Amino acid sequence: MNGKTMRRVYMDNHATTEVDPRVVEAMLPCFSETYGNSGSRNHAFGWEAEALVDEARERVAKVIGAKAKEIIFTSGATESDNLALKGVVEFYKEKGNHIITATTEHKAILDTCKALERKGLATVTYLPVDAFGLIDLDALRSSITDETILISIMHANNEIGTIQPLHEIGKIAKERGVLFHTDATQGAGKIPVDVEAMGIDLLSMSAHKIYGPKGVGALYVRARNPRVRLTPQLDGGGQERGFRSGTLNVPGIVGLGKAMQVAGEVMEGENERLLRLRERLRQGIMGKLDEVFLNGHPMQRLPGNLNISFAFVEGESLLMGLKDIAVSSGSACTSATLEPSYVLKALGIGDELAHTSIRFGLGRFNTEEEVDYVAERVVHEVNRLREMSPLYEMAREGIDLKTFNWARE
Ligand SMILES: *Cc1c(COP(=O)(O)O)cnc(C)c1O
Repeated sequence: MNGKTMRRVYMDNHATTEVDPRVVEAMLPCFSETYGNSGSRNHAFGWEAEALVDEARERVAKVIGAKAKEIIFTSGATESDNLALKGVVEFYKEKGNHIITATTEHKAILDTCKALERKGLATVTYLPVDAFGLIDLDALRSSITDETILISIMHANNEIGTIQPLHEIGKIAKERGVLFHTDATQGAGKIPVDVEAMGIDLLSMSAHKIYGPKGVGALYVRARNPRVRLTPQLDGGGQERGFRSGTLNVPGIVGLGKAMQVAGEVMEGENERLLRLRERLRQGIMGKLDEVFLNGHPMQRLPGNLNISFAFVEGESLLMGLKDIAVSSGSACTSATLEPSYVLKALGIGDELAHTSIRFGLGRFNTEEEVDYVAERVVHEVNRLREMSPLYEMAREGIDLKTFNWARE
């Protein structure tokens, strides 16, 4: 770093998180002491590694109300989503081939559905969402057919933080005898989730979104009422009850287990704190600027999520002006093509406004001081960019830009 201490603020905790020091501490011995293969049955190195994996399995299961044997370790939520969807479609092909999901799901779900459709293995209904990002339960009910084998609706959205009504969705799925998968990557370990109470049959999660390491995750697979079956997508040594072959990533699994244990312990207090910080940031920005709009649900959202559109400001230009602050823009996810976010478009937000959006992801290690600094910098940058915007001037003067006759000028 240069002479002046350059300040950096990380506020992109939906993209990934800093690994919690408690997690690092739990993982370290796995590299140089307990480095055995948990599948080695004939010596202590293997038994010790296996004991660590068992402990991690218990910890993960506990936080979501599952039993340890129902947890299948994977390389992350993308793999868990693929295994859940492809595994169900292949195994239950005699029963039907219809999947119901939503337009605001993560690409790990949407692109998996697209791949299944392309191969002719499934037909997929993509439910629309309302202006807050919620699916309509009646639309869900009426889209179920005799061919429907799976409903896949995410827990909390990674862009706008909207939390779907999992209880109700689980109830509908049970009534109709359809399996229910949820991508809970932004939920499990952040907000309460209970696979029994919510009628969840399959649940994807990832360590690196909850202060654990990258490249490890899990899929919960219900063992009873009903016993969920899956066709494995990786063949080999038959690890993880045959659902997922491959030598277990013991350090990663230990990290996921520790991250989940810590999450379970701190969740309540942490969420109160994050909500306070989020509201402070929201007021610090929205209270000082006009023509700004909150995206997502005002209440039913992740405590650490704030997504705002700044009319008359290019999100990318705003990010450039905030180089020392890590946040995401509403066009960042597909930045190669600079498409506006499909999630924001699904809410009915126009391309123009979607391009002006910024996602703030507050996390465990953010401070009140950082929140105040970010709010001040954002307000300053937005004002600066708007001063250069003739459109903003026209809007301020009360000229309706939609009906303005450009040709006459
Ligand atoms: C990050 C994320 C994923 C992908 O998780 P990886 O572990 O990085 O593969 C899937 N779904 C949601 C909602 C996410 O936020």
